[in-house]
Amino acid sequence: MNWYKKAQQEFEEPPKWEYPGAPHDFDPAWEHEVNLNPDQEIVQFVDGYINKLKKELIPQIEDIEDMKVGYIQNTGTDMIAKYINGTRNWPVFLIDIESTKKAVRELGLNIYDQIEMSILHELGHAIEECNGLPFDENRAEQFAFNYQFLGEIERFWEQ
Ligand SMILES: [Zn+2]
Repeated sequence: MNWYKKAQQEFEEPPKWEYPGAPHDFDPAWEHEVNLNPDQEIVQFVDGYINKLKKELIPQIEDIEDMKVGYIQNTGTDMIAKYINGTRNWPVFLIDIESTKKAVRELGLNIYDQIEMSILHELGHAIEECNGLPFDENRAEQFAFNYQFLGEIERFWEQ
């Protein structure tokens, strides 16, 4: 790493975390190394997808008011995305773009499909928590799959 890059990493401030209206002040920088320079193509894709979900899906899920994605890196695990426990009706999802790229390379998946799947999966966990349900990987995955590939909302919280 050259000096300039190192200096940039050491001194650049993380982007200011803002989540207007959220009843919690969770900031990704509390728990993780924030990705200060996330891949802008991915960021734009995520923004577009979140907006689409806010129009088409969120109004059909009573518990969720809004949602927001933050970008982290170097977690030391192969985790690609997570839901922040306790953010509930105003969920925060964190995405590790580099881990996602690595995973899709290894699994031969399309990165945009995987990003959609990650967001929907983590949204499933937010809905679980809002409804006092334990986190269940299969349930979150089923919810994500059904919406992404079948366009159906698996209303597991009503069962
Ligand atoms: Zn999960």
